[in-house]
Amino acid sequence: MPDELVAIAVAEHEAQGALFKDILKNAGIEAVVSSDNALGFVFGIAVMVNREDEERAKEILKTAGTRQDEASLSSAAGVTVKCGKCKKLVTFDARKKGTVQSCPHCFEYLDVPEE
Ligand SMILES: [Zn+2]
Repeated sequence: MPDELVAIAVAEHEAQGALFKDILKNAGIEAVVSSDNALGFVFGIAVMVNREDEERAKEILKTAGTRQDEASLSSAAGVTVKCGKCKKLVTFDARKKGTVQSCPHCFEYLDVPEE
């Protein structure tokens, strides 16, 4: 097992492992599930990510556990605002909610709403 990989969750069955992998992939994190790898794990299905993604991946799975539907997953991933000046759609990180940002296209100020 390459030492940069850390197990962040143990799935009860293969389908759950695949679901965790999908959720992480949608969030831009490459995960490895022990069942599709020759790691030889025997204690259930380990979901592993690169060590640098560990904290984020845990947070994502925690959020996914309480919000099952895709719509709320994508709203957790970011917020899309239409620029009032150039009319382009701009997506901001969820952490920018409730702040004022500038449009990357025309540099107009954009209010990023809470929801
Ligand atoms: Zn703009």
